[in-house]
Amino acid sequence: MAENTAKGGDMIDFSRPVLGDPELNAVAEVFSSGTVGYRGQSRRFEEQFARHLGVPHEHVIFLNSATSGTFLALELLGAAEGDEIVMPSLSFVAGPNATLSRGARPVFCEVDPHSLNPTVRDVERVVTPRTKAVLVLHYGGYPGDIADLADFCARRGIALVEDAACAVASTVGGQAVGTFGDMGVWSFDTMKIMVTGDGGMLYVRDPELARRARRLVYHGLAQACDGFSAPAWQNWTFEQWEIGYRLVGNDLTAAIGSVQLDRLPGLVSRRAELVRLYDSELSGADGVRLPPPLPEGHRSSYYLYWVQVDRAIRDEVARALYTAGIQTNFRYGPLHTVPAYGPVPRLPVSERAAEETLCLPLHPGLTDDDVRTVAGRLRKTVLSLLPSL
Ligand SMILES: *Cc1c(COP(=O)(O)O)cnc(C)c1O
Repeated sequence: MAENTAKGGDMIDFSRPVLGDPELNAVAEVFSSGTVGYRGQSRRFEEQFARHLGVPHEHVIFLNSATSGTFLALELLGAAEGDEIVMPSLSFVAGPNATLSRGARPVFCEVDPHSLNPTVRDVERVVTPRTKAVLVLHYGGYPGDIADLADFCARRGIALVEDAACAVASTVGGQAVGTFGDMGVWSFDTMKIMVTGDGGMLYVRDPELARRARRLVYHGLAQACDGFSAPAWQNWTFEQWEIGYRLVGNDLTAAIGSVQLDRLPGLVSRRAELVRLYDSELSGADGVRLPPPLPEGHRSSYYLYWVQVDRAIRDEVARALYTAGIQTNFRYGPLHTVPAYGPVPRLPVSERAAEETLCLPLHPGLTDDDVRTVAGRLRKTVLSLLPSL
């Protein structure tokens, strides 16, 4: 890769999709079908994804991104000026952007300092009578207290939206995360576990809202749902029910998605293997805290592998690893310190976590030796920096 030539071209990438001939062949088939828009293949991908989630097809819509789904979710919930949307500060910008686009206010909450997922207590602390919805993500694909959060929101009459962007194969008690709340979104962008180029999925629990969502994602036209009343030969009639958008995916990206979904169990189990290897290679490493174990009944998609080191050395560790040819990253936030979303109260736990957490390379293209190299280099670097603390 051109950008890595300075390092001899063998940087250990932070993330890389797994794509090959099966995906290319699936795209070629769409080429010969005579149409590339949101048609049959997109519907088949939705159906397949709905089966994967364990929900009826009508509740699932294939979109051009998870972000589109988040914007739509807040519109479907009727979020408006005066409403507050609660979300962890350690999350992606799509949440606050969607919130502000409705004229509503993002309210950031703390997270558990190790799992980096918000607990019910973290959410409860910032809920007010103006709270319209809670928007949580599943950090690194780890489910978090989603069942308890769903109970809490149901009891308080607050909507729950799940950003399951990186939790495509995560479950609690056998139930797919993203289906615990009122709505859920998944992402298939290039950094995710399964990719379509650009793409996302939206789940809407309420059947009426799901029908409305299907209309909104295609201009608000009745053609997009069951309600079109003109005869088929007169399909030029605009039955504009409400103002809509243009957020659907297409058959090319859907074809890639179908192949990736077939591959998903293999992709996730290789990630799980790599995570176990990191765990064993790093166990007992001085000054390095590993991700907490999964609670009973929780299954992760293993999107991220994160370690925590003293905040005073985290950046130095990232720099040393980069110099040694290892890309690391930190996801996400803290959003409450982003001027566009402020001014908002300090959140010391999130600020600290954001400064001491580092995500290591994790993708199925890594070899066991790559993981040993990263772990070995991390151990050594941290050891050499510890005396400076
Ligand atoms: C990737 C990601 C998104 C955005 O997904 P898009 O499909 O690019 O819109 C949102 N939230 C989280 C947590 C993500 O990781």
